[in-house]
Amino acid sequence: MTTEAYFDGGCTCRFVRYRLASKPMFVHCCHCRWCQRETGSAFALNALIESDRVEVTHGAVELVDTPSQSGKGQVIARCPACRLALWSHYGGGGRQVSFIRVGTLDDPDAFPPDIHIFTCSKQPWVVLPEGALAVHEYYKSSEVWPAASLERRRALFPPN
Ligand SMILES: [Zn+2]
Ligand SMILES: [Zn+2]
Repeated sequence: MTTEAYFDGGCTCRFVRYRLASKPMFVHCCHCRWCQRETGSAFALNALIESDRVEVTHGAVELVDTPSQSGKGQVIARCPACRLALWSHYGGGGRQVSFIRVGTLDDPDAFPPDIHIFTCSKQPWVVLPEGALAVHEYYKSSEVWPAASLERRRALFPPN
C-alpha cells in the first residue's frame, strides 16, 4: 500500500499554514501580464489541485474578489494578517479548484511547471528550458494533462 506524500506551505508571517493532501493535477507557469502585475515578477507558478485536498492547518484565509484576465474574476485566498496571496480560485474551475502559489510551499522546488502559458507576453530575458511545453496563450487540458490528472478533473466535474 502506498501513502501519498503531503506538502505543507504558508504565508510569510506564519499565521496561515496549509497542507496539500497530494501532488497537484498540473502546474502552470503563467507569463501573462496580469500574473506579472500580481506577483511583481516575470511569471506566476500555480499548482492546480482539488480544493478539498487543501487543508488550512493553522489560522484562516481571507477570500478577496479580484479581477482577472479572463474577465470572469478570481478569488484570492490571502493571509488576513500579512496579506500574502496563497492561492486563487478562477472563474473557469470555480471554488472546486485551487491554484496554489507554488512559492508559498515549504518546498517550492517540488513542483516545476508542466506547461508555460501566455508566452505571448513572456518577458524577453526569461529563457524556457529546451523542450519545455509552452503555448502562446491557453490550451485544452484534455489534450495536455496526463490521464491520471484528467481522471481527477472528471471526478470534480462529472460529465452530464
Ligand atoms: Zn501571514
Ligand atoms: Zn497569468
